[in-house]
Amino acid sequence: MLEPLRRIIQSVNKAASLEDAVDIIVSEVKKAVAADACSVYLTDADSREHLLQATDGLYAEAVGQVRLPLHRGLIGWVAERAEVVNLDDANHHPRYLYVEQTGEERFRAFLGVPIIQNRKVLGVLVLRQHDACRFSDDTVTFVMTLAAQLAAAIVLARNTGELDRLRRHDGLSNRYLVGLAASPGIAFGTAYVVFASADLDAVPDKPVQDIEADIAAFRSALAEVADDISGLAERVGGSLREEDRALFDAWRLMLQSESLVDDTITRIRAGNWVQGALRETIAEHIALFDRMDDDYLRERASDVRDLGRQVLMRLQKLDVPEAHYPPSTVLIGDEISAMQIADVPRESLAGIVSSGGSNSSHIAILARGMGVPAAMGVAEYRVSQIEGQELIVDGYRGRVYVAPSVVIRDEYDRLAADDRELSEELNALRGLPSETTDGHKLRLYLNTGLVSEQRPLGIEESSGVGLYRTELPFLVRDRFPGENTQMQIYQQVLENFMPRPVTIRTLDIGGDKPLNYFPVEESNPFLGWRGIRLTRDHPELFITQVRAILRAAIGLDNLRLLLPMITTVDEVDDALLLIQRAADELEDEGHDIAMPPVGVMIEVPAAVYQADALARRVSFMSVGTNDLTQYLLAVDRNNPHVATLYDDLHPAVLRALMSVVAGARVYGREVSVCGEMAGNPLAAPLLLGIGVDSLSMGVGSLLPVKGVIRSISRARARELLRVALQCETGLEVRRVLTDALDEIGLGGLVRPGR
Ligand code: PEP
Ligand code: MG
Repeated sequence: MLEPLRRIIQSVNKAASLEDAVDIIVSEVKKAVAADACSVYLTDADSREHLLQATDGLYAEAVGQVRLPLHRGLIGWVAERAEVVNLDDANHHPRYLYVEQTGEERFRAFLGVPIIQNRKVLGVLVLRQHDACRFSDDTVTFVMTLAAQLAAAIVLARNTGELDRLRRHDGLSNRYLVGLAASPGIAFGTAYVVFASADLDAVPDKPVQDIEADIAAFRSALAEVADDISGLAERVGGSLREEDRALFDAWRLMLQSESLVDDTITRIRAGNWVQGALRETIAEHIALFDRMDDDYLRERASDVRDLGRQVLMRLQKLDVPEAHYPPSTVLIGDEISAMQIADVPRESLAGIVSSGGSNSSHIAILARGMGVPAAMGVAEYRVSQIEGQELIVDGYRGRVYVAPSVVIRDEYDRLAADDRELSEELNALRGLPSETTDGHKLRLYLNTGLVSEQRPLGIEESSGVGLYRTELPFLVRDRFPGENTQMQIYQQVLENFMPRPVTIRTLDIGGDKPLNYFPVEESNPFLGWRGIRLTRDHPELFITQVRAILRAAIGLDNLRLLLPMITTVDEVDDALLLIQRAADELEDEGHDIAMPPVGVMIEVPAAVYQADALARRVSFMSVGTNDLTQYLLAVDRNNPHVATLYDDLHPAVLRALMSVVAGARVYGREVSVCGEMAGNPLAAPLLLGIGVDSLSMGVGSLLPVKGVIRSISRARARELLRVALQCETGLEVRRVLTDALDEIGLGGLVRPGR
């Protein structure tokens, strides 16, 4: 049964319209299970009816004519119960509703299977048999399996048909495509579809003819791409913020990386021609990043892929077609790269819509940094249909309106005017202290390390770096980076932020961030060998990193060390001994080492319950709410199927945070929050009320969070916390907080309008 299942899904996926899709479904399913009739009813929630959309076996004239009331008949019964109904003789069932137009009186057996997406019934697939007999278990499970997969294809086909009609009739619409809210704001613009011009996957392997000539061609292609990047950096650099410009440096580093250059040359020498060798090298890198569950690191794969394409284009001597971007460009594509974003003049870039990616993907982080509204994971349409269409992107809700109606446009014009007013108010906060109306200071720090920062990021607005993630240099190489290499990297960030403190986290590798040169087979990587667990078992790695960090800080005096994934006090004791050993070694070698404050990350429930025991051992604690939420709620933070369950405002997370602060206070330790929650303006009053001492966040969140802090008193924050703690769901907490932001006139930070 697997083959017909796959074939049907594939044909439906290719259908040009909803009508085509359901026609394929009814005829193919009828054939596959040898039924006498197969029909699809689609549910229209607005008119509260089920419409007969297609049939093979009932009277064809009934299609598009028969409309059954939402809760009537067997179709209504299947839909309202959202369950399979298998009857040997439908005509005697109390819910049976005779409909003359269909000719159903000829049939007796009935099988109704709901078509469901995201818990919503989209329609009902019905099989009929002339004889009175129950459908076999095999048939039932086949149709259920099929229906479960058809829902997404039906939505895609419906949108494809609608967009096509829009294009042909120039119509206007109130409907929108649904995605994930990735970067707040509202964009109006013209769709500009981006796609890859050089196709790496299409490059075949061929024997190399002239090894040296191929190597020379490869080197000159690399040099040309490096020149392109420099040109681009010069052209758009001025209009980008410091932090966005750092991306160019990351690309340059990648282009020069040993793993890209040497691996390709080795492959050429081994006999593959230059294009094939490049494809192999790039594929290997992409596979490494693709395997990562962590969204933002997985996004590095698109950078590698994009650089690979650029080099290939040079090798193939394809000219980069000159892009003519509309004055308000909404970049849209299946997979948009950072390079493609940077190619659009900043003043023309209005919005970004991507079929792939998620809220924490690299492109989303870049869009937030640039202040460009973005929606990710908008997959229910075909990119090819959208070029040149007028779009509105609602980055607060992840909605994309195609050819919007006048009503929608007017509404969004009004909301955008409110947004502009709010952002002017926020800009006026630059340089002002992060302080409540009753004078309580809450320090704001930056999270960095995502790209190789060559320049200081958002220094003026932050108190320093609250979380420097050190994984990147380990991920982009083909072996562990040596002590000196690491030292240079750490030194740069410490110097950039001097005298502000920089909290460097030791390696949090493993689990969702595997190294290709250190493979670990695990059936449950998130519960496996990651963070401190791995480095504790490999003291040589830990000591090398700590030596590099301590050496980097010599003479700067602004280092703080942070240990990730702490679950037991033994891990801390061991790590502290190793840190002391590294410092002693360096002293013996004649270095003048200052011991930095050492802190632990609280991201495992066990650490919450032992916060006091941990606090006794260290100088500070930093709560990683991304992992803590995932482990408390048992929800994989990167899995789209459970994305709606992942909620860092869940009451359990709030209670955990309170326990951490209480535990830390026993020994007078400071508590910071460095997960994504810290950058959410909605969460700021709660974190203030809970009594955390500082927040660490992406650069784009600094002003919005500061805006909230400066508009609220600590007493009010505590009152809000008290109310939030009475809530039993994350949704209720969210409501309380949204109302609170509205009260201080900042509701516009988390939704369109004021
Ligand atoms: C966290 O878990 O909240 C955190 C800050 O660490 P990371 O996102 O790097 O796992
Ligand atoms: Mg973490």
